[in-house]
Amino acid sequence: MKVLVAEKCGFCLGVKNAIKMAQEFLKERHEVHSLGPVIHNEDVVAQLARDGLKTVDKVEDVAGGTVLIRSHGASLEQIEKIKQKGLEIADATCVLVKRVQKLAKQLSEGGYKVVIIGDKNHPEVQGVMGYAPDIYVVADEADIAKLPRECKLGVICQTTQSPEHFGEMVGKIAKRGFSELKVVNTLCREAMLRQESAVELCKRVDVMFVLGGLHSANTRKLAEMCKKYNKNTFHLQNWAELDKTILSGKEVAGVTAGASTPDEVIQEFVSNLEKV
Ligand code: SF4
Repeated sequence: MKVLVAEKCGFCLGVKNAIKMAQEFLKERHEVHSLGPVIHNEDVVAQLARDGLKTVDKVEDVAGGTVLIRSHGASLEQIEKIKQKGLEIADATCVLVKRVQKLAKQLSEGGYKVVIIGDKNHPEVQGVMGYAPDIYVVADEADIAKLPRECKLGVICQTTQSPEHFGEMVGKIAKRGFSELKVVNTLCREAMLRQESAVELCKRVDVMFVLGGLHSANTRKLAEMCKKYNKNTFHLQNWAELDKTILSGKEVAGVTAGASTPDEVIQEFVSNLEKV
């Protein structure tokens, strides 16, 4: 089978940095805890666990040692709890996520009600929430109706949302008529390039595979976008999950992967698919 791989796919700089930092701290420290899974990839998390990394849900579960903040960041409340417990912090928050946190604080201090366009359950959004009081999360049109009127609004975005969704939501927010609307583009260029190259590729192939963790928001976003243009799009974690009957009658396959998908997973998938 002919296999085409998206120009931009796989690990992003923020994820690479978080994994590298986890590995380095594991070499030097006795106890390293990650606040939530380091990345949304079961194989990588399992390997780091074998190397000694303990994944915890909350700071209360850590008795001593180092706490690794993953690339999605953590809330100010969590950081404060870590400091109060006298634990060491290994901060792998992606610089682009830090920028969103900083902007939320600055906008709020400048008198704006802060709106973040994104998923309220995503750790990045939850982490940003504490940087300004009363942050409004807009996932879709229904949330826009809940925004306060007669105020200055400062709009930012979860880094991995699509530019189309960001633009659509900003347009709908603008229609409600606020005294002032300030929009700051906080989209991640790496995520955008992955989305652009995935969409471009999926239009040219018979079947499209999006590789990555089922809980990875950016992988799910890639699959959702590809599905719009190619109904034969499948979100899989690895080669083992492929049901080969879907390849029947297909000649050209496209492959892309989320920002938390290791190169080995992509390479294994591609080389096996080329042999079909
Ligand atoms: S997808 Fe972008 S914002 Fe998220 S960790 Fe990677 S580089 Fe940072």
